[in-house]
Amino acid sequence: MGIRSWEVRGSEHRLTSPNGLTTASPPPPTLSHPRRLYLWALERERALESTMISAFLVLAVGTCLATSLVPEKEKDPKYWRDQAQQTLKNALRLQNLNTNVAKNIIMFLGDGMGVSTVTAARILKGQLHHNPGEETRLEMDKFPHVALSKTYNTNAQVPDSAGTATAYLCGVKANEGTVGVSAATQRSQCNTTRGNEVTSILRWAKDSGKSVGIVTTTRVNHATPSATYAHSADRDWYSDNEMPPEALSQGCKDIAYQLMHNIRDIEVILGGGRKYMFPKNTTDVEYEQDEKARGTRLDGLNLIDIWKSFKPRHKHSHYVWNRTELLALKPSTVDYLLGLFEPGDMQYELNRNNGTDPSLSEMVEIAIKILSKNPRGFFLLVEGGRIDHGHHEGKAKQALHEAVEMDLAIGQAGAMTSLEDTLTVVTADHSHVFTFGGYTPRGNSIFGLAPMVSDTDKKPFTAILYGNGPGYKVVGGERENVSMVDYAHNNYQAQSAVPLRHETHGGEDVAVFAKGPMAHLLHGVHEQNYIPHVMAYAACIGANRDHCASANSSGSPSPGPLLLLLALLPLGILF
Ligand SMILES: [Zn+2]
Repeated sequence: MGIRSWEVRGSEHRLTSPNGLTTASPPPPTLSHPRRLYLWALERERALESTMISAFLVLAVGTCLATSLVPEKEKDPKYWRDQAQQTLKNALRLQNLNTNVAKNIIMFLGDGMGVSTVTAARILKGQLHHNPGEETRLEMDKFPHVALSKTYNTNAQVPDSAGTATAYLCGVKANEGTVGVSAATQRSQCNTTRGNEVTSILRWAKDSGKSVGIVTTTRVNHATPSATYAHSADRDWYSDNEMPPEALSQGCKDIAYQLMHNIRDIEVILGGGRKYMFPKNTTDVEYEQDEKARGTRLDGLNLIDIWKSFKPRHKHSHYVWNRTELLALKPSTVDYLLGLFEPGDMQYELNRNNGTDPSLSEMVEIAIKILSKNPRGFFLLVEGGRIDHGHHEGKAKQALHEAVEMDLAIGQAGAMTSLEDTLTVVTADHSHVFTFGGYTPRGNSIFGLAPMVSDTDKKPFTAILYGNGPGYKVVGGERENVSMVDYAHNNYQAQSAVPLRHETHGGEDVAVFAKGPMAHLLHGVHEQNYIPHVMAYAACIGANRDHCASANSSGSPSPGPLLLLLALLPLGILF
């Protein structure tokens, strides 16, 4: 069987064999043993053939057209040359650095959005528009500057969302499970908190007169947003109900309490987490029968009332709990907005009730309308928080749709702001053990099968797989045959190598995409805690502001000391 390049089209099961590499086979022996190498090659060839044949029998539907997967325009080399030349032209323009002062900073945080998730979300987005998908450009793909972020926590090789949030929001690496405190604080040890608090870029922005906002699809007191305003030895201290008596007696406050008390004039807070704001057993406004949705607070406080009481009387503050109320608001008349749309985390985008729950894009649009009224600008943190949850559950489809929705929100923010005065950073806190592969052909459904069966257990497999997680499934002593299940279902749990009830984070670097003033400072392999230092520098907030005196906040590039010197020389002013 000499054919090495052939494809079978039909449904999403396509068979391809570029370079004869489409079969899994034993690793090559060392080259110093030619006999073994020969046997290996023979075995590999046989494996390839049997795989192809069985794959053909299992999967072949329709006609064989070797070139049908390739879009017509891509066959012309001119297409690729023009495309590359245009990219080059755009890249050359980047030599004129944007050194404006960033009036606004928007940070998009895809929780658990590792690079493999970004790529898969890109393909999904393209396929939702009926394209093959691989060629699609996400909104974040259009950002001119990209860096890598090293995500480890001070005490963890593979990090969690709390320690990482402290890094990319407060500029200091910390222990896993802690928020808004340095590595001197030990998780769950309340008495190691005091004196080790670190402040966030949200606070720095507030202190310099900017408006600030938090938008998330998780609870507003979840790990990511909480690092902007809280200092807690434990990310799980959502309300006092979740805290050990010892921590309460030592005077530590829960994160919901801190949200309302630490920085009292956060202009926009949108997300989930209603139950942590109300006294224990308070019936939820939306889920009256659901006991789990009831208030949790042991201290009897109504934090919504407290939030309202802290707002100046002459300002307009609004608390909303559903989409209708949110969309009915006139942002021009809103000074402070608190929106809590679920008792806990918000629903997955795929499951979202359009009557009661806003999308992430809708929340971002309203947030920017409110925040941008401040002539001194704003800082906004937007979290696509449930990419992470989809992955933990092994539900790749949920995770990827969350990522696509966050990308829509990035586009929404881009349409409402200018590169001249707004620094936008998109990144992730950490990755997941999520992968996709299997020599799938161009345009293969991202949720589809690899175009062959395993040469070992003779069963098909999905392109998407997890290193560990709840999708591990053995039926009758063998790996489950995925062709017997609906692997394109919203809640399908992709197979994993190791059984775990919750799939884990991944430890590799994540991408940082940046555009706008000083975006070029995100340019290489950085420690994660570098990110807020760049954002603060760009906006002339926080500690490092020496360069700001000569900078022009109106949006035109600052001349820089050397240029200034040259301009002054002919006037003899310096002599
Ligand atoms: Zn996670």
